[in-house]
Amino acid sequence: MDAMTDSTNGNGTPNPFGGFSIAIVDPGDDAATATGGPVTIRSAEGRVDAKVVIIGSGPAGLTAAIYAARANLEPVVLAGSAPGGQLMLTSDVENYPGFVDPIQGPDLMAAMRGQAERVGARLIDVDIDRVDFSDRPFRIWARGTEYRAQAVIIATGASALWLGLESETRLRGRGVSACATCDGFFFRDREIAVVGGGDTAFEEASYLTRFATKVHLLHRRDAFRASKIMIDRARAHPKIEIHPNTAVEEVLGDAKVEAIRLSDTTTGEKRTMPIDGLFIAIGYKPNTEAFRDWLEVDAAGYLVVHDETGSKVDGVFIAGDVHDHRYRQAVTAAADGCKAAIDAERWLEAQGITEAATSTAW
Ligand code: NAP
Repeated sequence: MDAMTDSTNGNGTPNPFGGFSIAIVDPGDDAATATGGPVTIRSAEGRVDAKVVIIGSGPAGLTAAIYAARANLEPVVLAGSAPGGQLMLTSDVENYPGFVDPIQGPDLMAAMRGQAERVGARLIDVDIDRVDFSDRPFRIWARGTEYRAQAVIIATGASALWLGLESETRLRGRGVSACATCDGFFFRDREIAVVGGGDTAFEEASYLTRFATKVHLLHRRDAFRASKIMIDRARAHPKIEIHPNTAVEEVLGDAKVEAIRLSDTTTGEKRTMPIDGLFIAIGYKPNTEAFRDWLEVDAAGYLVVHDETGSKVDGVFIAGDVHDHRYRQAVTAAADGCKAAIDAERWLEAQGITEAATSTAW
């Protein structure tokens, strides 16, 4: 028996969730499939075979894992080297149902992960290198191991784009945010700024007027990508002030955001604007690179779904922000993960790969 254990995220930094333990066992080793003890996966040398492999470990991936595990699909979750998804960068979460008091994003993800592991999902904190969906079993390569799966659920999410300032990173969760829906509530009666010139920035600025006394919309050019109606609405809104040709050079503040240093992109003139919150709304990057040769992507790079969670490859399912640029919420991603697991389970059953008897009463 070849055992591998790892308590890092694969690049030497500690895994925030602690270690995992996997034993790759020889085919035919029935004792190894007994419940309890280390995770057991039937495998040949250097290979892991699974009924379902889930790629991604945000709310979509972990909810898919919980449902798939409870349907006896023994899912393997390739969780990524920075597991947990976007909520790992969020502080108070107040809109995920079930918590009377706000829960910290990382705590929520740790609870989801613990729940997935308790019901039998096997999580491995590796990034995938490439996939081959030409035939079944589907093949996925990650850190030198080949994973073979009868069904795959892709839940790799999307990453918010950031300006890339050191001060922006330092004050993330302390007044710097990339999600107005998540964090706007914390800026009641405060003055804030939104960066960006697309629909997201205008939508977030408009949403934030519910809370803030004033919203400054800062854009690096004087032409906007946002739709005309959004721009007209913002221009007419008494709480929104649009600042074209304006770049953020630094976020100021020690423990929390206190001001931003701005520069005029045409004259180079600098100024400081006192604010309490800075929302970065310069777009998202869906994490779809590995799948582009196999699945459809739309013009913005998001995966295209068919019939709720399906893809153009039978047996490959899609869940969460990797396809959803409309809602982008933890709860909608979780719901998507649930749907993908149910669809995968029914599909495996229809293929005769799992027995109907293994189906869970969901
Ligand atoms: P987007 O359209 O790509 O706009 C991103 C904006 O951020 C651009 O104005 C860009 O400036 C700016 N930007 C990018 N990098 C920057 C940087 N490093 N520093 C400063 N500014 C930077 O992205 P989006 O607004 O997220 O929209 C994405 C897609 O979703 C679009 O198709 C949009 O229509 C759609 N969407 C629709 C709705 C809706 O219909 N309700 C809502 C949200 C999003 P430049 O213009 O100078 O490049």
